[in-house]
Amino acid sequence: MKRYSVYEGKYPREVLLLKSFPCGFKGCSFCDCASEHSKNEKEIIEIASAELDKVTGVFRRLEVLNSASFFDFPVQVWQIIKDTVERRGIEELIVEANWNYKKRFKEITDFFNCKIRVKVGVETFDHKIRKSVMKKEMEFSGPKEIIKFTDSIRLLVGLKGQTQKSIRNDISIALSYFDYISVNLLHKNRKTSARHDSKLIEWFNEEYKDLHVVPGVEVLIQRIDLGVGRKHLFQQ
Ligand code: SF4
Repeated sequence: MKRYSVYEGKYPREVLLLKSFPCGFKGCSFCDCASEHSKNEKEIIEIASAELDKVTGVFRRLEVLNSASFFDFPVQVWQIIKDTVERRGIEELIVEANWNYKKRFKEITDFFNCKIRVKVGVETFDHKIRKSVMKKEMEFSGPKEIIKFTDSIRLLVGLKGQTQKSIRNDISIALSYFDYISVNLLHKNRKTSARHDSKLIEWFNEEYKDLHVVPGVEVLIQRIDLGVGRKHLFQQ
């Protein structure tokens, strides 16, 4: 498992993938992150300390991933991240959090003395697909509600049941409302190999081949493109 990387892509940053307590909203059909969770607080803190020690602040930007939400870290991990941010002169911290924590996002901005970007995995703006295909529980009326809490979202492309129409609609809404959009192309894992839609991803790559040059948009094969994660899970 590679937990630290220096990503020199569009938004250069150091990236960490840390262990955390289990995601409180398990069940999404495309997510295979259970091995990244632990109930052992000591282990979570030890991993966080060791990996955060590698941060140099080279790009003044740090992304902390954890296969759950930032709120699933013990408070000590928040403190170690804060110490690192201050010691290494980090100006922007990027984290992920489930929409169900939206009313707590401000706790993150209040805790850290730097710019905070909270990415929310919306996955799609098609509520029916999110619920029945992705099995992700997330209630919101539309992008105008999300933008009140964050300007950064993640979309998912490549699950059987998504359509070209729904993806066009997702990209169009995302570009109209949000400052930062991470479009994650589904990789094969234990949960998705039977539902991975290679043809849809092929179509997307052709249809949206210029998307990566649009400011604020990153198109990623999930974490592998950021240089962290378990490589063999991403192999076709
Ligand atoms: S996608 Fe997010 S909310 Fe769903 S199970 Fe994975 S970590 Fe939890």
